[in-house]
Amino acid sequence: MRAAVIREPQKALVMEDRPKPKPGPGQVVIKIKACGVCHSDLFVQQHAFGFEQYPVVPGHEVAGVVDEVGPGVNWPSVGDRVGMPWLYSACGHCKYCVSGNEILCREGQVTGVTTDGGYAEYMLAPAAFVAPIPEALDFADAAPLMCAGLTVYNGLRNAKYAVGQKVAVIGMGGLGHLAILFAKAMAGRVAVISTSSDKEKEARAMGAEKFINAKQEDVVEALRGWDGGPDIILATAPNVASMTKAFPGLAADGTMVVLGADAGAIQVTPMDLIGGRRKLLGSPSGGRSDIRATLEFAAAHGVKPVITKFPLEKANEVLESMHKGTLRNRAVLMME
Ligand SMILES: [Zn+2]
Ligand SMILES: [Zn+2]
Repeated sequence: MRAAVIREPQKALVMEDRPKPKPGPGQVVIKIKACGVCHSDLFVQQHAFGFEQYPVVPGHEVAGVVDEVGPGVNWPSVGDRVGMPWLYSACGHCKYCVSGNEILCREGQVTGVTTDGGYAEYMLAPAAFVAPIPEALDFADAAPLMCAGLTVYNGLRNAKYAVGQKVAVIGMGGLGHLAILFAKAMAGRVAVISTSSDKEKEARAMGAEKFINAKQEDVVEALRGWDGGPDIILATAPNVASMTKAFPGLAADGTMVVLGADAGAIQVTPMDLIGGRRKLLGSPSGGRSDIRATLEFAAAHGVKPVITKFPLEKANEVLESMHKGTLRNRAVLMME
């Protein structure tokens, strides 16, 4: 099988011809149809997480079908449509796992980071951790939901989003555009904060009622001018300066959810936190119940990511254009 491999940090992907994996007890082999390209894949290439295990096949937005099941697997079955998100496995017995918060497990394995992921024709996965893909979603559309979709949907849930609230989305990349679509599908009001004015048309077409050009407008003033400010800011762009700038624009009791990983520090003043009882919240991906909820919600409400398809062989080019910031929409690698 073909696989795109990061053999060591800071190096380009290498296309390898590998033997198709054999499932061990409790494992399945997924025949991969599509794999989304996440900004985190760049981090894996750069060794930015620090816990990567090289060589590694990156990719944690996997969609495909079960090709083979190992001994002792009674679900899923060969032919089932399944995906693999960020969380590859968790210990199952720590206090986070037993309370339904397995995404916080300290012994969790990460797809495409600590173990081989989806930039390949086949991958191994623990049967218990694959996510069933609803019929209404095709593979290419389901793939970006495995990380980008899950992250924004769960970010809204972790911020205790309530129907009709105002949601400001910073950035309109892979996560940002899905944040708009999910918030709209959840009956929210949406504003977009972006540095590129050419995104306005697209943002409005997706349902944003307000577009704030961060280069031309005072972001705080613009946010407060939106009926007192957003109840939730989803900070999807990996840019701490934009988060720092927007935070004081939150409505009282509002929450900024940090989703985009950047290396610097966010600055907030105690007064902005205390006076308006505002919250700054981090939200990682999600566990098994979260990915199922995300996929079911997307299928039921027609949430469809805006994607550009590339063959697996173009993985290096895609990562490079993502690094340069020239990639539009969500890139999805197609295996055939
Ligand atoms: Zn991701
Ligand atoms: Zn655990």
